[in-house]
Amino acid sequence: MDVYGWTRAQAEAWATSIGLPAYRGEQLLRGVYRADVRCFAEIPGWPRELGQRLDAAYRLPLAEEVEQHVSSDGTTKSLLRYQDGALVECVSIPTPDRHTVCVSTQVGCPVGCSFCASGLAGVERNLRAAEIVWQVLHHHRRRRVTHVVFMGSGEPFLNYDAVIQAIRVLGEPLGLGLGRRRITVSTSGVPMRIRQFARDEPQVTLALSLHAADDATRSRLVPLNRRWPLAEVLAAMRDYASQVGRRPTLEYVLLADANMSRVHAEQLAATARALHAHINLIPYNPVADLAHVPPERRAVAAFASMVRRYGGHATVRRPRGCDIAAACGQLRRQSLALFETSQH
Ligand code: SAH
Ligand code: SF4
Repeated sequence: MDVYGWTRAQAEAWATSIGLPAYRGEQLLRGVYRADVRCFAEIPGWPRELGQRLDAAYRLPLAEEVEQHVSSDGTTKSLLRYQDGALVECVSIPTPDRHTVCVSTQVGCPVGCSFCASGLAGVERNLRAAEIVWQVLHHHRRRRVTHVVFMGSGEPFLNYDAVIQAIRVLGEPLGLGLGRRRITVSTSGVPMRIRQFARDEPQVTLALSLHAADDATRSRLVPLNRRWPLAEVLAAMRDYASQVGRRPTLEYVLLADANMSRVHAEQLAATARALHAHINLIPYNPVADLAHVPPERRAVAAFASMVRRYGGHATVRRPRGCDIAAACGQLRRQSLALFETSQH
């Protein structure tokens, strides 16, 4: 009964499979999304006995919020505990005209990039589509969600089917009705899935976590590069771009000690030009336990202008939620009380 992972058609198929009319499935989805019910017995329009029977067998809420932290910039990080005890963070990023939610796709991450907290303890398990959708719904209850980014913990393309299903459910008009153009998926680079994504979800924006445009540097930063080196990842990105006909985004975390030389800037610009890609520079958000050095503000501006001089189209991402460890790369499924102790 993974209700939050169902499209309308799937909810209707479930209803008919247990001998109910199809519209009971539609009522079920309306109930969980529109009326925000917390048990089956509360579904509007359902016979009481049906709801009670399901409540005896299944628990509808998928997770509970065990902690919530609000940043001085309004960014809110929630630590959720799923039914099996797995802990996952999701982040709400409000601006006056948008409400973006950043979702996790795995409990931890198997990739283990050298600058990211999410991979420090490896991966515990994949999240199901319903568990991903639940993170969006969690923040949607407070304010209508307008955009979703798959940029929390986990590598989306190592949990591909659940990510595709979550995107479909988020688009379900009976539920959140989120247009594909309002969704962005970020990957550290799985060539087969990049090509498949162009076929499955051509309207969704894809961002590639590049971080270095030469194999030696990238393999040090993103261990996945040893399995799928740049030539393979970039060939997949070229196919992707020609199939969807839009510019992809290249993410590039700025590490003062690793990838900010003039040569790095030149290689990055050349790679972006070849792909007609937009470059998103992300100043490193410091993570306790990791040795990287955040760049000075001046060095960020200097690197950005070097990239532009070499013909790259680059913008700098403004960090959100740094004071509550909610910024890119700081999600590590732990209580903030622990985070604060480790900072002092
Ligand atoms: N696993 C996916 C999606 C999640 S990470 C991926 O790696 O693409 C979202 C973005 O934040 C990625 O570009 C990632 O490289 C970046 N990031 C990770 N740790 C960071 C840190 N400490 N500071 C700044 N950006 C970071
Ligand atoms: Fe995983 Fe992405 Fe973090 Fe790398 S940056 S460890 S792929 S979540």
